[in-house]
Amino acid sequence: MRNIVSLFILLIINSFAVAQSSTDNQVQSFVNQQYPSLDTLYKYLHQHPELSSQEEQTALLIANELRSLGFEVQERLGMYNLAGVLKNGEGPTLLIRTDMDALPLEEKTGVPYASTATGTNAAGETVGVMHACGHDIHMTVFLGTARTMVQMKEQWSGTLVMVAQSAEETGFGADALFKANLYDKIPVPDYAIALHDNASLPAGTVGYRAGAFMASVDMVDITVYGEGGHGAAPHTTKDPIVLAAQMINSFQTIVSREINPINPAVVTVGSIHGGTVHNIIPDEVKLQLTVRSYSPQVRNRIIRALKRISQSHAQAARLPEEKYPTVRIRDPQTPATINNTELTNRLTTVFKKMLGEDKVVETPPNMVGEDFSLYGMQDKKVPICMFWLGAVDPQKVKEAEETGTKLPSLHSPFYAPVPEPTIKTGIRAMSAAALELLEK
Ligand SMILES: [Zn+2]
Ligand SMILES: [Zn+2]
Repeated sequence: MRNIVSLFILLIINSFAVAQSSTDNQVQSFVNQQYPSLDTLYKYLHQHPELSSQEEQTALLIANELRSLGFEVQERLGMYNLAGVLKNGEGPTLLIRTDMDALPLEEKTGVPYASTATGTNAAGETVGVMHACGHDIHMTVFLGTARTMVQMKEQWSGTLVMVAQSAEETGFGADALFKANLYDKIPVPDYAIALHDNASLPAGTVGYRAGAFMASVDMVDITVYGEGGHGAAPHTTKDPIVLAAQMINSFQTIVSREINPINPAVVTVGSIHGGTVHNIIPDEVKLQLTVRSYSPQVRNRIIRALKRISQSHAQAARLPEEKYPTVRIRDPQTPATINNTELTNRLTTVFKKMLGEDKVVETPPNMVGEDFSLYGMQDKKVPICMFWLGAVDPQKVKEAEETGTKLPSLHSPFYAPVPEPTIKTGIRAMSAAALELLEK
């Protein structure tokens, strides 16, 4: 009897594995058949990048394709954010998100389909524009997944929501989407998932991490005031350049002396502007900082320290109180991306079965940020999971490891993901995740 029971269990397990691999086979053959058009789509998006919050044509392209696939599409949900809903019977609701924006960079990859596009930045300057963060890969995988899910409609049940988001790079896009009350306009998802291409993992692999995945981000503007005058008579002035220099040095002690070393944190001064010529002491210096951490406590402590240090240096320079530096935290703040453990484990199991154990790697947390975190932080706490999609030629990864050379990072003008294996793996992984979560 025991034997019969275990044989029966074995049969169930086997038939499950067979079902899963045959589903993946179907996905793969569909993706192979679709690939020529996906390749054209990817290269078109790559050559037509649009800056954050200006993604008008990109959004139109995505909205049109989702509509032609049978999704009910709502556009302009704050900026160019859009959402497509496909109801396919009873079951859970899954949200899949892509971002759409590119970066103000002139491409230097030398690939035949390199971008030569230009755009106008917020300051009104003409700048090169490039998909240097791979959001064109994300969009191609996103539409490839939408096509696959429509093709395989008989094999799942539930509601699929596809969200294409504006302005991820500036941190305004998801904020605008939720200020436009996304979750009142679509069925509230039971899960929200997304992927990001990865500039150090080989194509054909995915990376995952349950829990802490990406850091919180604050952009901080500090204006340092002084009393300007002749460069030859510093004693008649209060020099804001010297004051700013002292403040910047003291900021280096926040992470090193005030934060428990167990807690990750970053304070970077990324920009300093003041003065015009050699011999004039200006009366103002402007600093721009980025602050990263994983907990609100650490984040608040850093912000308090920035204010305290700024003020105390101004006081030491005998500036009157009304000329103390102003420390402004830009809105919106991007919270840390914390992947739901149960959801991440569920997806990781599916990925390992499909791609093989060695192609699914656990990655360490990272101090970059992502406004995808907001999808899990609304009134309903939707479980979220973002995973990495390897995008680099495996041979190049190997060479870099052997020689100790550095690969171009995301946001580098030299970053060029390898399209075919990256896009195909992305669609296989995203479709497998969707089919798992919307299982009949
Ligand atoms: Zn980016
Ligand atoms: Zn990105």
